[in-house]
Amino acid sequence: MEKQRQRFEQELEKLLTQAQIKKEEPLSRHTTFRVGGPAEYLVTPTMEQIPDVVALCKQSEVALTVIGNGSNLLVSDNGIRGVVLEVGKAASGIRLLDGEDLAVMAGTLLSEAANFAAKNGLSGMEFAAGIPGSLGGAVVMNAGAYGGEMKDILSGVRVLTKGGEIIVRPADELDLSYRHSRMMDEGDIVLEARLNLTQGSEVVIRAQMEELRKRRVEKQPLEYPSAGSTFKRPEGYFAGKLIEDAGLRGFRVGDAQVSEKHCGFVINRGAATAAQILDLMQQVQERVKAHSGVYLEPEVRLLGF
Ligand SMILES: Cc1cc2nc3c(=O)[nH]c(=O)nc-3n(C[C@H](O)[C@H](O)[C@H](O)COP(=O)(O)OP(=O)(O)OC[C@H]3O[C@@H](n4cnc5c(N)ncnc54)[C@H](O)[C@@H]3O)c2cc1C
Repeated sequence: MEKQRQRFEQELEKLLTQAQIKKEEPLSRHTTFRVGGPAEYLVTPTMEQIPDVVALCKQSEVALTVIGNGSNLLVSDNGIRGVVLEVGKAASGIRLLDGEDLAVMAGTLLSEAANFAAKNGLSGMEFAAGIPGSLGGAVVMNAGAYGGEMKDILSGVRVLTKGGEIIVRPADELDLSYRHSRMMDEGDIVLEARLNLTQGSEVVIRAQMEELRKRRVEKQPLEYPSAGSTFKRPEGYFAGKLIEDAGLRGFRVGDAQVSEKHCGFVINRGAATAAQILDLMQQVQERVKAHSGVYLEPEVRLLGF
């Protein structure tokens, strides 16, 4: 191993425990698509450790990639060199603030936060309970479903900026729009989100969550690995309908397939590679464009290509 890398590893080992550093870790274990080659270093720091790990990467000129729960990612079969920093369980936790606010650490799963809110009789997160992402990933993506989106409940975020500063940004400075945020453009790391919910009845909240869960199970191919909706909804259209109309229901490249149950989802039938999924996505884009003239923009984030 070259000297510089060795030194970097030694420094990393001073910051994190051995259990928090995995070398050449297959990212297929960290994505809901179940594809993706190895991360040179997959690290799982606590909230307190994140700034030091980021600073070390910067100082050592080692590439840094941040992931959450990997539920909106297509990672290349060649994997990712440098450090992949997973903001996950080690950086999770929820605090009930005065009144109707929650402070949720970025690594917390949306489902956990939604359950916590329900238990405390706080309404507003019902839409998010079935989205399999972390709070951080959901804020960056401005995740949404069934008429709700993160933008509706976010009052602010604590971020680590590219410049290494930890600052609080109010929601109206986050440029939140359909599956877009300022953090996406600027590369800020989300550390914590503050959510503003409203008082409600736990029974009613849970009934709504259950109703939405049933709708997901009925409509979505949850029995297969996927990253949810593969493409964004083009204005005035539904991606799934455009794909179906182009004759692509069930269309396959190897084990990558346009779901027969919901054409908006690309699924991994078992042994798909990232290359097959990407190939399929590109063919879908071309054929939909040829059929209806509409360009489908990926919602899934591509890493390592
Ligand atoms: C079955 C299924 C159903 C889904 N349904 C929905 C749905 O209804 N609505 C919806 O909007 N999405 C849906 N998704 C997609 C996905 O769950 C969301 O986009 C989710 O918000 C992604 O969160 P994540 O933690 O998994 O992020 P990842 O997929 O790990 O990352 C997504 C992006 O966010 C960045 N990122 C992650 N965490 C941080 C952080 N802490 N700081 C800075 N950047 C970060 C990553 O670099 C990447 O660019 C679905 C996915 C699946 C598999």
